[in-house]
Amino acid sequence: MLYQPELIGGHVALDLLNTVSWRLDPSRTVDRIATAEALATWRAAAGLSGDSDPHRVATVRAVVYDAVLPIARGTGPGDLRELQTLLAGAVRRATPAGPRPMDWGGANLVDELVLAAGRLLEREDLSRLRECQDDGCGWLFLDRSKNGSRRWCSSGDCGNRARAKRHYERVRAGRES
Ligand SMILES: [Zn+2]
Repeated sequence: MLYQPELIGGHVALDLLNTVSWRLDPSRTVDRIATAEALATWRAAAGLSGDSDPHRVATVRAVVYDAVLPIARGTGPGDLRELQTLLAGAVRRATPAGPRPMDWGGANLVDELVLAAGRLLEREDLSRLRECQDDGCGWLFLDRSKNGSRRWCSSGDCGNRARAKRHYERVRAGRES
């Protein structure tokens, strides 16, 4: 089946992390950008350019995940040294690309993703950073809802499953009582 990226993170750095599906359930974990073709599909959907090798992107993804997850779980910030090293290299190679004097564009896709992760940690409201509450999902997102009550990566996916499970449990409890 053709890969159709779901960009629900609210930030490209989180959409990168969400290219791993079922991250917290090792029996089901899938890397959606493990091939050059799948990576190109994701890159286009995310509005990015530049060639890169899926292995290098996976390495960056792992570093960004380690930096971001403790913040999403409220135990962070974690160890940012690896990300700092990647950022230093990306900034050295970067060229001005945005409206602000220090909005950098990456020299390649990997650098672009590293710079995006830096912007996430530098500029976004991290009190809004959440992990989907599904046990196996592991997707991360910025909760941009007005009242900050978003619990699921997607209400039509993990949210639906949770509702169906609660319904099933209620029905079963009703039958047993
Ligand atoms: Zn989810």
